[in-house]
Amino acid sequence: MGQTITEQILDEHLVEGELTPGEEIGIEIDQVLTQDTTGTMVWLQFEALDLDEVQTELAAQYCDHQTYQFDFKNTDDHRFLRSAAGTFGAYFSRPGNGICHQVHKENFAAPGKTLLGSDSHTPTPGGLGQLAIGAGGLDIAVAMGGGPYYVEMPEIVNVELTGELPEWATAKDVALHLLGELTVKGGVGKVLEYTGPGVETLTIPERTTITNLGTELGATSSIFGTDEKTEDWLARQDREEEYVELSPDEDAEYADTIEVDLSDLEPLIATPSMPDNVVPVREVAGEDVEQVIIGSCTNGAYEDILPGAKMLKGREVAKKTEMIVAPGSKQASEMLAREGWTAEMMAAGVNFSEATCGACIGIGHVPASDSVSLRTFNRNFEGRSGIEDDSVFLCSPEVATAAAITGEIVDPRDLADELGDLEAPGLEMGTKYGPGMGESDPDIISPDEAVDDDLIKGPNIGDVPLKDELASDIEGEALLKMEDNITTDHIIPATADILKFRSNIEKLSEFTLSRVDDTFAQRALDADGGFLVAGENYGQGSSREHAALCPMFLGVEGVLAQSFARIHKANLFNFGLVPLTIDEETYENIDQGDDIEIVDDVGEGVRNGATEFTVRVNDDWEATAHLDASEREREILAAGGKLSWTKQQHESD
Ligand code: SF4
Repeated sequence: MGQTITEQILDEHLVEGELTPGEEIGIEIDQVLTQDTTGTMVWLQFEALDLDEVQTELAAQYCDHQTYQFDFKNTDDHRFLRSAAGTFGAYFSRPGNGICHQVHKENFAAPGKTLLGSDSHTPTPGGLGQLAIGAGGLDIAVAMGGGPYYVEMPEIVNVELTGELPEWATAKDVALHLLGELTVKGGVGKVLEYTGPGVETLTIPERTTITNLGTELGATSSIFGTDEKTEDWLARQDREEEYVELSPDEDAEYADTIEVDLSDLEPLIATPSMPDNVVPVREVAGEDVEQVIIGSCTNGAYEDILPGAKMLKGREVAKKTEMIVAPGSKQASEMLAREGWTAEMMAAGVNFSEATCGACIGIGHVPASDSVSLRTFNRNFEGRSGIEDDSVFLCSPEVATAAAITGEIVDPRDLADELGDLEAPGLEMGTKYGPGMGESDPDIISPDEAVDDDLIKGPNIGDVPLKDELASDIEGEALLKMEDNITTDHIIPATADILKFRSNIEKLSEFTLSRVDDTFAQRALDADGGFLVAGENYGQGSSREHAALCPMFLGVEGVLAQSFARIHKANLFNFGLVPLTIDEETYENIDQGDDIEIVDDVGEGVRNGATEFTVRVNDDWEATAHLDASEREREILAAGGKLSWTKQQHESD
């Protein structure tokens, strides 16, 4: 039987298991990336594993999430990351050089290779034919040490594109359309593989916008094949030698096919506060807009910013609206500046930010209270912008710019009709890209140019906490009962005041689930053990392993949820927290404060492959909970987490 593109790449990198959906496979990783919020833990764990040199073809450390320096902590973290990259042999991208996905795409992403990144939007270079997967930091540390990455073999779904995007509809609308149809859970356990004649009408920046947003569908990854556009784009980055041809075999079989006729699409918008609350822009037209931001890893390329620049030529940003452009990389900033677009946009009233994640996680440009912000980002989870009652809409750069011009949400087609001289900007590729590969880019320090050969730890950088082996009995209070779709932003918010403690778990854990219940951390410590209870899709969102590490530090033993998000579930295993699945009735009947006991010998059951455990509540009633885990995940859980397990493996080698 023929193979899909994903199967071809996986087959070439397979070190354990078979390509049967649902089965755990181990794959070899060619490249890894990590960013500043997750990176400090990655390197501390790399050090704790007694590893001394990166074993993958390439590793890159970016400083993108929190580039503003409020005090010494963040600067210390960046210096530590530079020292770790230098000591262990990774590329280091300086703060301000851009967002990891954008900079990695420009400098290192290569078709046919595997990439593992400690950030959930790692699948972005799937638009270039790279099989890229987001994972927790500990998985990255192990992969950098040369270990395989284990993942459940996903189902491969064919997204067949036909037709061509009409004027004013964009790649963002393709992704928003899929989110509206499939929801934030629609891609769980799947790789979305884009095929069909519509693919060749899309540029590489358009394709990577689509693969970036695959994360919001919960997909393991998203990927396109390669063609002349891929080759041309790599050549513009001085990397044409990286090109390989990738297409599915003619008789490849997909688990499912989703058809999208690009010519049927129109400008869409995700309304607050989930990326799948998608409606046509016309449905919400007329709403006042106080802030517009173009940027992020979704729409931060030169080609994403240029349409807005063209729309603003000879116009001004509405007086009641603030418009910010935060390019995704310094390369994009440079290109806009060299071609005069920065000055044009500034003259129209645009405020430029450095190339950083910033506003996407509430670090800078927090919206005013009770106001609407239109952003070209990928997430609008409640509170993520830095203010609890935010009202963030997600849309294309064209829709965002139309709102900046009028001060209200407007379909750009209607604005064009009204103005008479507003032309659809279309998508124009940049002619001259940035400096190219690592060695020639002053903002990327290659391992050969490293300035440090020892780790530099400031006073805010702590140790990695460890957990004991899994006990035979686990019992405790239902410390917190939560609803569906609890995100990692709920568990550990990524705002500046909290994130500065990312390398200090003892301090950071004080903020655990504070957005749900600000008494949680203290109660968990006082209770000395207990459980979290949640509805569907617990832990969706980022790859942030602090969302498992901090509850572990507070003594949480396990999570009882109706279902889990993929990366977060892996992180729970990695830090020795038992993820048990319960049915809706059990979820409804457990109240916060109930006494919970997992009756069977849990440690023994986990080791012996038990899939069902009895949950006794208040010594009064019982229900069944399920453990869906591979043999390897069971060993990790029994050992008290992946760090201890990996050390044990090394010792027995
Ligand atoms: Fe940065 Fe936002 Fe992209 Fe995450 S989603 S990498 S915070 S821009």
